[in-house]
Amino acid sequence: MTAQPLRIARTDDAIDLDAAESAVADLLVALGHDPSSEHLGETPRRVASAYAELLTPRSFSLTTFPNDECYGELVLARDIPFVSLCEHHLLPFSGVAHVGYIPGERILGLSKLARVVELFARGLQVQERLTKQVADWLADHLQPRAVGVVMEAEHSCMSLRGVRAAGTTTVTSALRGLLRDDPRSRAEFFALTRTT
Ligand code: ZN
Repeated sequence: MTAQPLRIARTDDAIDLDAAESAVADLLVALGHDPSSEHLGETPRRVASAYAELLTPRSFSLTTFPNDECYGELVLARDIPFVSLCEHHLLPFSGVAHVGYIPGERILGLSKLARVVELFARGLQVQERLTKQVADWLADHLQPRAVGVVMEAEHSCMSLRGVRAAGTTTVTSALRGLLRDDPRSRAEFFALTRTT
């Protein structure tokens, strides 16, 4: 089998750490705290670097292989953990993703499904768009016969504040190709992801 690696990095975010650090210091002042106090001295730097980390996916190489065995069934990676930042509150939402596809001419290194989830999770997001982006990206880059993505997440903006609905899970899904068009494939996918 010949591998075809393709370097994947997201470069649309320009993060200015110094500016973020001074903005966090301003936020602390606005919230009634003194960023020059002994306890908060390092906080602006830590917060800025924490956000930078949450907004920056690790680059990876996308390795695909020819589907020599003509495997035509579902390939599914279940319970891929992810964390993302809600673009409405800058608070994290986190949970698991189930990502599957039915191969066409090429198959993908299995660990890459988790990397694709991270590629889009590390950014300001809403869960609906995140789910769709993972599905669209796989459909574009792999040209499989089907793609299915289910994401289940708890949003801290919902569990810690507002309605304080702790333990509530939001489920989103995006289906492409056979998984969208063929009821039997779709039923199998949802049975395997344990969702309905
Ligand atoms: Zn939110």
